[in-house]
Amino acid sequence: MLGLMQDWPLRIHRIIDHAARYHPDRPIVSRAVEGPIHRTSYHEVRQRALQLAQRLIREGVAPGERVATLAWNTWRHLEAWYGITGAAAVCHTVNPRLFRGQIAWIINHAEDRLMLADLTFVPLLEAIQEQLPGVRRFIVLTDDAHMPATTLRNAVAYESWLAEADGDFAWAEVDENAAAGMAYTSGTTGDPKGVVYSHRSNVLHALAVNNGDFLGLRARDVVMPVVPLFHANGWAIPYSAPMAGAGLVLPGAKMDGASLHELLNGEGVTITAAVPTVWLGLLQHLDATGGSLTSLERVVIGGSACPRPMTEAFETRYGVSVAHAWGMTELSPLGTFCSLKPETSALAGDALYALKVKQGHPPFTVDMKITDDAGRPQPWDGATFGRLKVKGPAVAGAYFKAESKAILDEEGFFDTGDVATIDAHGYMHITDRSKDVIKSGGEWISSIEIENLAMGHPAVAEAAVIGVAHPKWDERPLLIVVPKAEAAVDGASILAYLDGKIAKWWMPDDVAFVSEIPHTATGKIQKTALREQFSAYRLPGL
Ligand code: ADP
Repeated sequence: MLGLMQDWPLRIHRIIDHAARYHPDRPIVSRAVEGPIHRTSYHEVRQRALQLAQRLIREGVAPGERVATLAWNTWRHLEAWYGITGAAAVCHTVNPRLFRGQIAWIINHAEDRLMLADLTFVPLLEAIQEQLPGVRRFIVLTDDAHMPATTLRNAVAYESWLAEADGDFAWAEVDENAAAGMAYTSGTTGDPKGVVYSHRSNVLHALAVNNGDFLGLRARDVVMPVVPLFHANGWAIPYSAPMAGAGLVLPGAKMDGASLHELLNGEGVTITAAVPTVWLGLLQHLDATGGSLTSLERVVIGGSACPRPMTEAFETRYGVSVAHAWGMTELSPLGTFCSLKPETSALAGDALYALKVKQGHPPFTVDMKITDDAGRPQPWDGATFGRLKVKGPAVAGAYFKAESKAILDEEGFFDTGDVATIDAHGYMHITDRSKDVIKSGGEWISSIEIENLAMGHPAVAEAAVIGVAHPKWDERPLLIVVPKAEAAVDGASILAYLDGKIAKWWMPDDVAFVSEIPHTATGKIQKTALREQFSAYRLPGL
């Protein structure tokens, strides 16, 4: 017997239809790439997305074809997300921070034929367009007045191109399982891999994370996604905000502390989201200027482990609650949030901050387990490390053009490449990437935990821990530190600070000082580069 409810495929356009109907005038504020602040609404975003879908079809875009964007967070990029999927095409967000060769590789691999790009990226595309024979037209996201002279193939200014359609259009009918979006992992090892989201997976994921313990957006929220739309499905915010009817503030190309501060207070932002390095910039700006955060209630921090001093700074100095989140491109991308449960809600002070360094528990639709290398489940005791594996309707089952290659275990779980513990209350704690874990005397040492603790030393600006070869123990931890500009510091004082906070055998064998730690295009510490930089290093006494 079948249920007798309506057939209502989970299509992405329903989200913007809902926002435009029930929250039509909610402000969508952007810092335009051209400079000024631009204001629009969900009603207008939907209208222009319809126009874009119609214009794309007139341009010859076929269902399932990938259309690329190379753009910052602005209203035009938002309407591209809905316009492209509304034409039954696939919105492929390209990450401009990758190396040029990788960008070209990704565009060719995805077979993008049309490319919507911000003014910022015109020189980059001019430099690589010979390597992009498949792209037949570049649409520059600006108007005629700002359109530069360019050698880009069939280049046109978005606004005049868009104006050739009148928006009298009905969203394309698509199967809810049809591809809607595409994002490549950054490919720290090997070629980047294409993750393909469907209409259904994106709708389900946005619904799942919009619950109170997770992103939990409300109509009275004003959300500023600083995390770029080109990184990991924009942390689902382009879907979850209109779904809730929340206002949006889009910071464009300017993500320095001062520019973000101006938007946060000036536009009444209540919730914002980005990687820790972005928040380091904002906190430094606030410290230097004595500024405050007047409307901000919550900050979502993920993409890398959120160090405890950052959580404490936001919560105790600025009255902003921190939501530590974990996810990855393959998870659409949000996997867990560290929100309180009845079992943890009485925690305060030290115990609360100790909890908040964990990445937390998953929403409905994400199932997790930790296993040893042989795939055997590990206990949820908060101490045993295991490979973190996940399963769910918004978790990748295969990569683009590698559909036949199995990436799931026999129970259908995807190996995240992260190593984690899970405690008795179901809180997951990432201890490492599996390739960064330090294996010493047959046991694992968590580099992330040592880094987090070292960041609490008053003279440490940034810390990274890598394993270096040791004849007896296999590997031993080396702590690499960027000291705060004004601070005089020595290794012994940092080691003394760590003493008693971690097991004796976790203590780094040495501390090295550098002026800068290399980061990936998405703000993560680049351990491969660090290991290379320290390849000739020998531990003291060896
Ligand atoms: P990219 O490599 O392009 O940045 P992802 O965002 O998909 O792509 O990276 C996902 C990885 O980032 C995770 O597998 C994990 O290693 C790391 N990560 C994400 N959030 C956290 C977090 N809160 N704490 C520690 N690591 C995190």
